[in-house]
Amino acid sequence: MRLVLLGPPGAGKGTQAARLCAGRTLAHLSTGDMLRRAVAAKSALGRKVQSVMARGDLVSDATVIALIAERVEAADCRPGFVLDGFPRTPAQAEALEGLLKEKDMALDAVLELRVEETALLARMKTRLQESAAARADDTEDALAIRLKVYRRETAPVSDFYAARGLLHALDGMQPIDAVTAAIDATLTALKG
Ligand code: AMP
Repeated sequence: MRLVLLGPPGAGKGTQAARLCAGRTLAHLSTGDMLRRAVAAKSALGRKVQSVMARGDLVSDATVIALIAERVEAADCRPGFVLDGFPRTPAQAEALEGLLKEKDMALDAVLELRVEETALLARMKTRLQESAAARADDTEDALAIRLKVYRRETAPVSDFYAARGLLHALDGMQPIDAVTAAIDATLTALKG
């Protein structure tokens, strides 16, 4: 099974992706995690993306497409994967489609977690206060930019997948367990 989790920052994509992969043989592919590891390792890539990420902007399409193109080749991706935080622009969605087609692969579904912006702001402020969980881009300024970037760059990705009949929108405002149950029900219906 090959899935994409879509949704704004703070929607719970990371949590749900981890849950999805825990009970199944699926690889969790988070471009945000890959980039944060590069920053922590102070690699050439990390040094290049550090300030862009801290500010809340997107790193270049070419950078993340190269990361994913390499990653989907790995053995642990053969049984399937969950993409979390990628694609984030229509250009990334098109590149993903092309690179999967080259390998005779296709996505099974795109799950979009829909959450209102006021709820997102409240969630992110809680994350700010719980300093142990805070990330470099967990500042109010960066969050405002991340939301703006989401509206402008990533929201159109939903239309891209809706046009291909792959999009399943879910209510991300529910408690975490209810969202997990809704995802499970969607995947079960797909198999049926
Ligand atoms: P995330 O953990 O998915 O919220 O990603 C954290 C940050 O990494 C984002 O705010 C971007 O700066 C960068 N990033 C992660 N994934 C992508 C992507 N697909 N395209 C561009 N930038 C990304």
